[in-house]
Amino acid sequence: MSAIPHNIPLDVLTTLRNLDPMLWINPDYASAFAENIPDRQEILTAQHRIARSAALLTQLFPELTASQGIIESHLIDLSVFKQQWVESQLNSNYDLSQQSWLLKADHALPIAGSVKARGGFHEVIAIAEQIALQHQLIAPHDDLIQLASAPAKKIFSEYSIAVGSTGNLGLSIGIMAAALGFKAIVHMSVEAKEWKKQRLRSRGVEVVEHTGDYAAAVEAGRQEALANPKCHFVDDEQSLLLFLGYAACAAHLAEQLAQAQHVVDAEHPLFVYIPCGVGGAPGGICFGLKAIFAEHVHCFFAEPVASPCMLVQLAAATDQAVSVYDIGLNNQTEADGLAVGLASSLVSPIMRSQLSGVFTVADDRLYENLYQLHQAEQIQLEPSAAAALHGPMLINSSPAAQAYLDSHQINIKHATHVIWSTGGSLVPAEEMQKFQARGLQICSRK
Ligand SMILES: *Cc1c(COP(=O)(O)O)cnc(C)c1O
Repeated sequence: MSAIPHNIPLDVLTTLRNLDPMLWINPDYASAFAENIPDRQEILTAQHRIARSAALLTQLFPELTASQGIIESHLIDLSVFKQQWVESQLNSNYDLSQQSWLLKADHALPIAGSVKARGGFHEVIAIAEQIALQHQLIAPHDDLIQLASAPAKKIFSEYSIAVGSTGNLGLSIGIMAAALGFKAIVHMSVEAKEWKKQRLRSRGVEVVEHTGDYAAAVEAGRQEALANPKCHFVDDEQSLLLFLGYAACAAHLAEQLAQAQHVVDAEHPLFVYIPCGVGGAPGGICFGLKAIFAEHVHCFFAEPVASPCMLVQLAAATDQAVSVYDIGLNNQTEADGLAVGLASSLVSPIMRSQLSGVFTVADDRLYENLYQLHQAEQIQLEPSAAAALHGPMLINSSPAAQAYLDSHQINIKHATHVIWSTGGSLVPAEEMQKFQARGLQICSRK
């Protein structure tokens, strides 16, 4: 075992090593710790860039005509899912009648079918904007429709955009980069799903397969891109542009909550649960939400029991990188979007004071919950996206959650819970059926 020094308490370490699911409460939450926190102004810059790309996106993707180039998702009421959970708690008497359980339906985001449409598209468009500015095709703050012009396409064809990815990030970067006319290269681990590779290749994206895990694919891609000055590498482990693309969505969620009359204040706290891989997507979303709702929003990440990289990094309370391998875990999970051994070194320091906690989920629970969601609400998710479904149940029932609520004097009687569903709508139907069948099997064993 590695000798990397860390400060993970022994009881936490034992639970993690035993692969026992846990809710870890962040002891540094709301502390004054503030290292390299991006300027909140940058969230507005990203929002503005996304707004300036609406006409461009409609031009590149006719299926966005109805939404006028806005890439957004619905906020769906999960009252049946909530009620079914209450009824399954035979020995307890929960009154959740005043709580709202909602699903932020990013699994159905257009074009990319996952939360990666937010960060990935933002980064590719920002790079294209930068190149167009250098070539004086546009002026700063212009609408970005010119990025689809013939002269822009010709210039972009001399550049490449590369990314290392287990799947969904590769889809989002590859599709957008190819649509703009860049040479697009996606480095994947060999285990990545075949349908994702095929979809990319059918759009003219070059797929390079690597043996080894996700971090190895990223590293190989990074090295190859470094050798080419006309290649931009989207670095999932360190990218601020990705992070800000995710953060930009918080304002829209705030509007959706207001429209549906979900007040967020001290009496009506907002709880948000987001699946975490390397941390960019959930970290960006948390950062954006904190900028709007401050202490009234409580963000929790969900990670597989074998891949709790953000939990490990934050609990380690050190500047050094500590991976799940360093504490003896193997990073083997069927939630492929979350199979990440080491958290983003950009995101983990930002989360240290903003994140309320992390809960871990066994693979069986992912399938159980995705089956229950489909039964209750006719919504289908991929396993990674199902990781957050357990969040509201934990906050309402676990002793660790109760201790958190007590210490911050939070009453959850009127809480709003938002579960972030991060991917699924592009998964082929036959794969989805397998996920459901496995969920049914697990539920009927109980
Ligand atoms: C990428 C992804 C996540 C997590 O995002 P990170 O930025 O890696 O933390 C969660 N769910 C799905 C389906 C994803 O594709």
